[in-house]
Amino acid sequence: MQQAITGDEVRAVRWAEPGLAWGLVPTMGALHEGHLSLVRAARAANDRVGVSIFVNPTQFNNPEDLIKYPRNVEVDLALLREEGVDLVWLPRVEDVYPPGFQTTVSLAHVTQPLEGASRPGHFDGVATVVAKLFNVFQPMRAYFGQKDAQQVAMIQQMVRDLNFNLEIVVGPIVREVDGLAMSSRNVRLTPEQRAAAPVLYSALSSACAAWESGGRSPDDLRRVMTDALNAEPLARVDYISVADPVTLVELEDSAKRALLSMAVYFGEVRLIDNMVVE
Ligand code: AMP
Repeated sequence: MQQAITGDEVRAVRWAEPGLAWGLVPTMGALHEGHLSLVRAARAANDRVGVSIFVNPTQFNNPEDLIKYPRNVEVDLALLREEGVDLVWLPRVEDVYPPGFQTTVSLAHVTQPLEGASRPGHFDGVATVVAKLFNVFQPMRAYFGQKDAQQVAMIQQMVRDLNFNLEIVVGPIVREVDGLAMSSRNVRLTPEQRAAAPVLYSALSSACAAWESGGRSPDDLRRVMTDALNAEPLARVDYISVADPVTLVELEDSAKRALLSMAVYFGEVRLIDNMVVE
């Protein structure tokens, strides 16, 4: 497994054998089975697999969240070696944002609601860094998790808008046995909060069951999720949404497909989760 820090180092490895298909899995490290599922999907479909680990400061709207974001590079490298990853890219902040950096990639609509509304500037940070990762790495395929549904919608839009020459592959949400979506932030939960956190999954599951039994009014689905979350005293709801899965526009009337999503605080830790019903 090779390691690179600068863009030039990445390019030297990437183009050492022209003609090979590379899959890229962008991450912020503190790797868990959710990340590794994307690595395995990339491993299965490409000649070579690259993983980037970069805790991107510009996508953190909350400075405290950036400071407390878990970092564990040695463990991450051991996990990636076991998965047969070919290249790990660990840029420093100054490699990604050298002095004088002045470009931002910003999407107009898909980034506005939900995470965009709660985390001002977050998606500008994500779009800019992902555009840079794509330009340096030039993968044939890039892998993202459905866990971050709005991020997926935004990246697909950006790839269409800016003609990035690659395929976006979306992996399903990997969950703990009790349903909690795996997240690097889960380690910050207290034992009591951790015990309460599967309420996101149960709220989504209840709304999904309501949908499948024919209750497709968006307001009813929002009410089912609100009731489930309000029954958990440790959960503080940031948003609950029933939206179009591509545009992220909130649904008013019944539709064929819907993205059910939520962001919920447990103390200072903010968790997100979602399900698509169709
Ligand atoms: P992060 O390190 O949080 O930026 O995540 C890197 C990638 O892993 C993103 O595409 C995430 O959507 C994806 N990911 C994170 N958690 C999960 C999960 N529980 N299941 C599937 N993919 C995930």
